[in-house]
Amino acid sequence: MKRIAVLTSGGDAPGMNAAVRAVAKVAMAKGIEVFGVKRGYLGMLHDEIFRMDGSYVSGIIDRGGTVLLTARCLEFKDPKFRAIAAENLKKRGIEGIVVIGGDGSYRGADLLSKEHGIKVVGLPGTIDNDIVGTDYTIGFDTCLNTILDAMSKLRDTATSHERTILMEVMGRHAGDLALHACLAGGGDGVLIPEAENPLEMLVYQIKERRRQGKLHDIVLVAEGVGKVQDVEDYMREKVSTEVRSVVLGHVQRGGTPSGFDRVLATKMGARAVELLEQGEGGVMVGIENNQLVTHPISFAWEGTRKYDIKKDYELAVMLSK
Ligand code: ADP
Repeated sequence: MKRIAVLTSGGDAPGMNAAVRAVAKVAMAKGIEVFGVKRGYLGMLHDEIFRMDGSYVSGIIDRGGTVLLTARCLEFKDPKFRAIAAENLKKRGIEGIVVIGGDGSYRGADLLSKEHGIKVVGLPGTIDNDIVGTDYTIGFDTCLNTILDAMSKLRDTATSHERTILMEVMGRHAGDLALHACLAGGGDGVLIPEAENPLEMLVYQIKERRRQGKLHDIVLVAEGVGKVQDVEDYMREKVSTEVRSVVLGHVQRGGTPSGFDRVLATKMGARAVELLEQGEGGVMVGIENNQLVTHPISFAWEGTRKYDIKKDYELAVMLSK
């Protein structure tokens, strides 16, 4: 394969730039021409495709966000528009693409591959850690650390005012961010979409902890369980402490990527180029048991997660008592 392209799509995640850099540099080292596509599938459709050189990816490894920009492109769900996008690649002789994004982006890549013969490799770029076929996604670790930083700050004020703080964190339908933050930050409760989350139990726990002299509670609430305000309304009536909720929001998407995310992104980016060089496509790269692995790209929506989140949930509940 002589020409490939790289794009970032869906929600941005810290470490995407490190992946773009690795793809570009490894491709160049192998004598493969590499193109950048701006704004994900939107740019592919609008022909925002440019030849990348070393200077484009210089100095980006430690930058959050994505220098290629990202966008959502609803037209890409329509085969008519996918044909236009594919033609924009083909007229440049681009035979393979690396798509860095979530499972929605993988679906688009899969269709592009099946309908137009473009070889595609998906890299899991999302803070949510919600992609089947990988233990970790690029951006998850950085985001977790951002949450932990905020948690420490909230704990200072929660203790001073003896408050119960409900902290809503991102994750879409996955509870990984909330659960890991609870485990790593010493949270005092966690609500995730994968569990029943009996609120009566949480209330009981908070009351007990206060009886034992605790001065604060920080409860992690995954966005997938619903509105944090509803939890606050429920809690307010049951506990005697002051309850406040905080929605951490988009600050979770930003920041300089952690060392872990940079290494993960770099290894995955390099593997993606190797796969394309070997003429492989229709795959996603993951990391399982600390080894890079590949799966058919459809594994992201057809497969099942290996991670036993319920077990870690039970641990988090036990530790938050
Ligand atoms: P993520 O990749 O983070 O899951 P989205 O679900 O928003 O984010 O998907 C990103 C983009 O991928 C969409 O804007 C669209 O262009 C493309 N996409 C998503 N789902 C499909 C689909 N079913 N068919 C074709 N393209 C899709």
